[in-house]
Formats: sequence, C-alpha cells, structure tokens
Amino acid sequence: MGISSEVVLDLIRTTPRHLFVDEALASRAYENTALPIGFGQTISQPYVVAAMTQVLLETGPMHRVLEIGGGCGYQSAVLARVAAQVYTIERIAALANRLRTRLYELKVSNVRVRHGDGRLGWAAHAPFDAILVAAAASSVPPKLLEQLSVGGRAIMPVGRQGEQMLTLIRRTNDGFEEEALQRVSFVPLLENVD
Ligand code: SAH
Repeated sequence: MGISSEVVLDLIRTTPRHLFVDEALASRAYENTALPIGFGQTISQPYVVAAMTQVLLETGPMHRVLEIGGGCGYQSAVLARVAAQVYTIERIAALANRLRTRLYELKVSNVRVRHGDGRLGWAAHAPFDAILVAAAASSVPPKLLEQLSVGGRAIMPVGRQGEQMLTLIRRTNDGFEEEALQRVSFVPLLENVD
C-alpha cells in the first residue's frame, strides 16, 4: 500500500495492537481497519499509522514528538519506538487514564500523557520536531504551528467529514509549506475536554 520503509513495516509488525483494544475485539486487531475504543472514538487503521509515521521519519528528526488525540495509545506506542520523547494529549479523561496505564504496563517509559485540549499544544515542552494530529479539523490550530521547530513537520487530516486530506506542513526559515498527501477519514478534533 505504499509503505516502503523497513523500519515502519517492522514497527507495525511488532507492536501488539491487540493489547490496545477490548478483549472482545482482540481477534480483529490485525485487520487493516479502525476499531471502536469506546466513547465514540476509534483506534487508527494500521495503514494510516504507518503512513503518517513514515512521512515524519522521512522528512526530518524525531527527538521531541507531540501527538494530539492519543486515544487508546497505539500510535503513541509506535511513535515511542522511533522518537526520543513523545508527548501526547487526549481530551477524554477516561481514555487518557487508560492510555497512561496501558503504556506503563507495556513498559513504554518515554511517553508523557496529558488530559487536555490538544489544539493548544503543550507549550512547556515546545518546540517539537514533529507533531502528529490524529483527528480532523478545517485548519491546523495556530498554537500547534507556533510550537513547531524550524525544520519541524506537522501531519494532520484537514477538511470536513468525507473530504479530509492528510496534510504535511513544514516549518522553514521563511514560514510554512503545505503539501496535500492523500484522502483520509478521521474522527473530528473537538473543542474543550470531557
Ligand atoms: N491515534 C489514536 C487514535 C485516536 S482517535 C489511536 O491509535 O488510538 C482520535 C482521538 O482524538 C480520540 O481519542 C479523541 O478523543 C481525540 N481528540 C479529539 N479532539 C481532541 C482535542 N481537541 N484534543 C485532544 N484529543 C482530541
């Protein structure tokens, strides 16, 4: 499907996705589909996790990575294996708590989890080399762009339901460059917290 990076293929092959979904869904964990994780949210499709991770890996450094929409923690666990430090923000408290526990149980120790509105970013740990947003909005939140280092990249689905485009934004010395990558389907990036 266009995932050519051996590193990324290996990450997907060896990250135990069944541990991030309910036991009742575990038998479907290795299908290439999104699955429910409760609260009306979904675990991202493995292909999309792979595609976003590959783009970030191929375009620059990955020391400090910010993830918005941690969900069940699957994408966080994948990122944790190629980034020095991952910061993830999730707006639903119950999901943020479960994500924290799950990563602790899996002995993933380089992910910091925050319950909050990811549209505001995490200024205390900025700037970030890479920002991955796992929920769609009509434009990239300005605070996230502010918190990107020069040479940094943000990847995010932009657009309304049914017409979202996975978009790569690079911060250069002169400003921001935007590139449309492919059509995708994500849950919406919501305001405020639950
Ligand atoms: N990458 C996740 C996918 C989660 S789906 C995984 O692998 O499981 C998107 C997530 O974004 C949902 O959990 C949703 O609650 C969260 N979300 C939506 N709007 C948000 C916001 N403003 N700030 C933080 N998280 C948000």
